[in-house]
Amino acid sequence: MKYCSGLKQQQDKDLDNLNGLRCALPQHTTLAVMGAIALGLGGCNPTTAPRESATPEPEETLQVVTTFLPMTQFTTAVAGDRAIVTQLLPTNVGPHDYQAKPSDAQAITEADVLVKNGLEMEVFLDDTIENAANPDLLIIDSSEGVPTLTTEDHDEEHTESDHDKAEGDDHAHAEHGHDHGEFNPHIWLDPKRAIQQVENIRDGLIAADPAGEPEYTANAEAFIADLKTLDAEITAQLAPFFGQTFVVFHDFAPYFAESYGLNVEMLVGIPEENPSPEAVKQVMETVQAEGLSTIMTEPQAGQESFASIAKDLGIRVSVFDPGETGAPDAVNSDDYLQIMRQNTENLVAGFEAPDQAGSPIWLPDFATIMPELPLLQGVSRW
Ligand SMILES: [Zn+2]
Repeated sequence: MKYCSGLKQQQDKDLDNLNGLRCALPQHTTLAVMGAIALGLGGCNPTTAPRESATPEPEETLQVVTTFLPMTQFTTAVAGDRAIVTQLLPTNVGPHDYQAKPSDAQAITEADVLVKNGLEMEVFLDDTIENAANPDLLIIDSSEGVPTLTTEDHDEEHTESDHDKAEGDDHAHAEHGHDHGEFNPHIWLDPKRAIQQVENIRDGLIAADPAGEPEYTANAEAFIADLKTLDAEITAQLAPFFGQTFVVFHDFAPYFAESYGLNVEMLVGIPEENPSPEAVKQVMETVQAEGLSTIMTEPQAGQESFASIAKDLGIRVSVFDPGETGAPDAVNSDDYLQIMRQNTENLVAGFEAPDQAGSPIWLPDFATIMPELPLLQGVSRW
């Protein structure tokens, strides 16, 4: 779930030194050390120098770096006023295929805690952490213990051998044309799994800052209550559409779909990918087979492809926001709740929309085959 990167093992005989260190070092460093002890990983080397800061005051506040928006929204919910939370990626840049900048390593160098989604969503992170060379860093992998779906569970284009090959081999990932790991990383889009992520973040912050336990616990409890309410609302709203299919642009919705008894199909693996003609054909066939009246694009990708498909089929385009990007101020937990409620509303509206939107397109085809339809033989057309 969380670990101290690069921590040196602390011998029992050094514990007395460590006790002295608690007084000698700034609070945040001591807390990170204590977190390491709580995790059974040994303490930091007492000779590790505390990071310099021009102003001592912020140095005493826990510095938490998050990777992308949902991680920031969850972490700010738990941290409240007790920690300074800074997001690594610009909020308008998604995590898929993100290229790290030198300033990212610098931010991690200066941080006490790093919160990531995990499940190989942040492929840039390992190198960046290495470059940051911060032995005191506590890393919270929010996906720890969260039930996962493999990419092949819902992607027929991936074969077993692809994934055998892909395991532990980054080059094999690139062969797919979209870069993801063995498991789909979009767990935050299922509020039930989001609760587990929040619990992981809570536990990690407590490990890094044990004195903040009451605050982190209370904050997490309040947000988890919000997530439970959200989950109950979505469950109720989508219950009438159990077993139905919706179509999104990139492969972000399997957890959401599973959680609410829906099926999902997507056009591409990651937002940066161009849809293949085969994928477009498959989506169009799904739309026809399921009688869908609406397909769901996303705010930063897919509009062009979906507009084209919708025009061809005479259907509507709505939006399902995976929340990977957003406005600069969309960093609070309320923003997550708002996005998920809007997604659900859009989905319900899409399911409820009459599917005769397709009729202008289907009419010419229908007319050509009509004479052969036994059902229509008795219908007078003139
Ligand atoms: Zn994604």
